Order: sequence, then C-alpha cells, then structure tokens
Amino acid sequence: MIGHFLGNTISDICGWVALAGDYTSHPTFNGTQTTDWVIIGGGFTGLAAARRIAELEPNARVILIDGKRVGQGATGRNSGFVVANESPGHAAFSSASGWADYAALNALDHAGVAALKQLVETHEINCQWEDTGSIHAATSPKNFNKLRHHAQAFTDMGINATLLDQAALHKRLGTTHYKLGVLSTGGALVQPAALAKGLSDSLPAQVEIYENSPVLKLKQDGDAAILTLKGGTLRANKVIVGVNAFMPRLGIRTDRVFPLALTASLTRPLTKAEEDEIGHAASWGVLSPQSLGATMRLTKDRRILIRNTAEYRPSGIEAARLAHNQSIHYQGLKKRFPWLAADAIEYTWSGNICVSANSKPVFSKLSDTMFAAGCYNASGAARGTIMGRLIADLTMNAPSELLDTANSLSEPSWIPPRPFFDMAAKTRMALERAKGKSER
Ligand SMILES: Cc1cc2nc3c(=O)[nH]c(=O)nc-3n(C[C@H](O)[C@H](O)[C@H](O)COP(=O)(O)OP(=O)(O)OC[C@H]3O[C@@H](n4cnc5c(N)ncnc54)[C@H](O)[C@@H]3O)c2cc1C
Repeated sequence: MIGHFLGNTISDICGWVALAGDYTSHPTFNGTQTTDWVIIGGGFTGLAAARRIAELEPNARVILIDGKRVGQGATGRNSGFVVANESPGHAAFSSASGWADYAALNALDHAGVAALKQLVETHEINCQWEDTGSIHAATSPKNFNKLRHHAQAFTDMGINATLLDQAALHKRLGTTHYKLGVLSTGGALVQPAALAKGLSDSLPAQVEIYENSPVLKLKQDGDAAILTLKGGTLRANKVIVGVNAFMPRLGIRTDRVFPLALTASLTRPLTKAEEDEIGHAASWGVLSPQSLGATMRLTKDRRILIRNTAEYRPSGIEAARLAHNQSIHYQGLKKRFPWLAADAIEYTWSGNICVSANSKPVFSKLSDTMFAAGCYNASGAARGTIMGRLIADLTMNAPSELLDTANSLSEPSWIPPRPFFDMAAKTRMALERAKGKSER
C-alpha cells in the first residue's frame, strides 16, 4: 500500500516491526490433522493462552495458528504503552456497577503488566521495557476536571497519583503543549514488536506454530471443532479464539464488537539540535484523557511516536487515507514540537483494535469446545496477556481470584446489525473526533 504526503512516499510498514530485526518464520498449515488444542491468533491473547495451555498440559498437542505473521498484527503495531491505569470513563463514576467493572479491569491490567514484566525478565526479551508509570495529560482546560477525576479514581484504588502542572510537564517532556497531567504508578513502555517477537520465540517447544494460515471457518462437530483453513482441515478437541478485531469474521460476537482502525507514525531518531530543543528529556509516554486525543511517546531509541486517529473503516485504510492520516500526525507533532520537519516521519502504519459499545471485553465460553477472549480497546498489551492466560485457565477449570475477577465483568453490550450500525458508528466517531480535537 503506497500513498504520498508532502512528496514523501508512504507505505503501510510498521516502524516497530521494521526495527525489530529478523523474525523466526514458521510453516503454513497443510493437510488434514487432529490436535488436542488450537489457539487461533498469535497476538498477546493467543501467545499468552498457548503458553498457559502448554504449562497446564505439557503432553498435549498445542497448535498456534495465525492468518498472517505471529506478533505482527495489532500486537506488534500498537503504540507500546503497557497500560496499567486506563482512563476511567463516564461509566466508572455514574454507577456502582460501572465502578466495580472499572476496578476489576484495573486489577486485571496490573496483573497483566506484572505477567508481561516477568516474561520479559525470565526470557531476557530485549524490547526497551521501561517502568515509567503512566501519564495522562491535556492541553485544553475543558479536560482538566477529567484529569482531576482520574487522579481521584486512581487514589481511591490505592494507586499513587500526582498532578503535574505545565512547568513540571515541560521539564519532563520537553514541550510546553500540555498544561495539566496526572502521573500514576504502574504501566510501562516497550517496543511492542520486539516484545511480541520475544514472547513468540520463548514459547515452550511443545507449541507448534503455523503462520500465513487464516482460519476461514470454525464449526462445532460433536465434541470437537472443525477448522477450515486455506491449506486444509484441522480437528481439535478444544479451541481458543484470540483474533480480536476479526472475531465477527469468524461469526463470533457479531452483535457485540466491531473494529476501529488506528494509524500511528514514528519519526527517525532525533538529531542533536532536536535533542537540545527538548532538553534531552528521558523517554516518556503520554495518554490523553479524551478517547480520540493523541497518544505520544519519546522512545528509548529517541524517536517520537504519535497516534491521533481512530476510524470506523471495516474495509481497511487505503493508501490515500494513510497519507491523509500522516498529515494529521504531522499537525499533531507541530503543535508539540514546532521545530520538527515533516520529513522527520519515517514510518506510518495502521492496525485494528476491537471495541464494544460499553468498553467491556469478550471473555467467553462459546461451547464446551470453543472459548474466546479479546476486545480490549487500545489497552490490549497487558489486558490481552492476562485475559489470554485466564481464558486458558477457564478451559481447564483452573480456579483463581483473577479468574473470578474476569468472570465478574459485564458482557459487551448489544450493537445493531449493519448497515444501521455503520451509520451510527460514523456519527458517533465524528462526535468523538470533534470532542477530542483540542487534544489531537
Ligand atoms: C495503532 C495501534 C495503537 C495501539 N496502542 C496500544 C497501546 O499503546 N497499548 C495497548 O495496550 N494497546 C494498544 N493497542 C491495542 C492492542 O494492540 C490490542 O488490544 C492487542 O494487540 C490485542 O491483542 P490480541 O492478541 O487480542 O489481538 P491482535 O493483536 O489483533 O492479534 C490477533 C491475531 O489474530 C490473527 N488473526 C485474525 N484473524 C485470523 C484468522 N481468521 N485466522 C488466523 N489468525 C487470525 C491476526 O493476524 C493477529 O495476529 C493499539 C492498537 C493499534 C492498532
């Protein structure tokens, strides 16, 4: 896919993936086979589920299948925030059940961060992991109360939260753009593709991996499941589906979840003069309290990342749209770093997240044979890792307090069928974009 912005050629190459080095390649699936377990999807969810199944059943045949390359979907294409403290939305403050769900998700996210960190340390995964905590920050006074509510919510949950004024933010980030922020404990920053590569390479040898092998159809057959793949058929005793935004394409939760396309850009490393402009700030990440505000990072390898678009485009982001989004990224960069030239952007790419109307994840037993986990908005690094592990526990009836927590979450709420949903989603997104404009 190629587009143009300011004379630059833009192809949909994910910077993280390009910079992560060589990947181990795996065969495509062929023929007719039987197995104990199949995990569909090699992202955070599938990788964690496969690892856990292998741990619990060391003698079982465990197959992990990806339609493209393992760890190169949204898992390798995200902004690299291992989110511990997601923005508490309106629901968290408006009802006791909204608050209980928020607290439950927060507990799961903290467990997900800890699980990932342990894997990074145990397997010495070289992914620029940094325990930075989380910063939510805004420039527009109309979002300041939201930030104060964030600080209060975090404090109420026993999480350390400090308000940062403009001077403190300037010193920390090297830009005067942000006027108020909240620094809370928990959460890390990573090079996500390097993390995913390390997670995949460190799976137990028992896990057989097949790539470029999309599952086209999934159906129940007595006590087993039959998977129709491009290259053959697979009969499995148990299936875990971890395909996130692609669940509806396999006929799963079609009336509950939908995809959103996010686009991100990464600059080349900053020059010496640019480093002087930001006062040689240490690496950082900033999340917006507005759902369609920008996520920004200064990476450990001294690049700037921006992600400030989210679109309902179920048919994908074509080249011209990618170029358009890069121009929006550049506007966002200029607001924060006026001295940055447009050709500083080295990579622009898009990826899909999975969303539900009430921001609740899928964590479901679909039948005695099939299970699914996914739909974490833009917070799937930690959440996907813990939900992937817990969905494996659910299949095995391996009890834990965290599994109870995951089971306690409300279901994603109902959404109308297409094309009615398409109209509603486009209107809602336009509204959210307008609300988030000052923070883009
Ligand atoms: C630009 C962007 C920025 C983001 N920023 C952040 C962030 O900073 N922090 C954060 O926590 N989250 C972020 N997210 C969200 C996060 O990436 C996702 O929530 C997370 O990747 C979900 O993990 P997953 O394993 O459930 O799904 P995915 O990562 O989407 O993996 C699903 C896998 O399933 C495979 N697949 C799909 N269909 C089939 C099929 N039919 N057969 C076989 N395989 C199939 C895909 O190829 C893919 O590899 C971002 C996402 C994007 C796109």
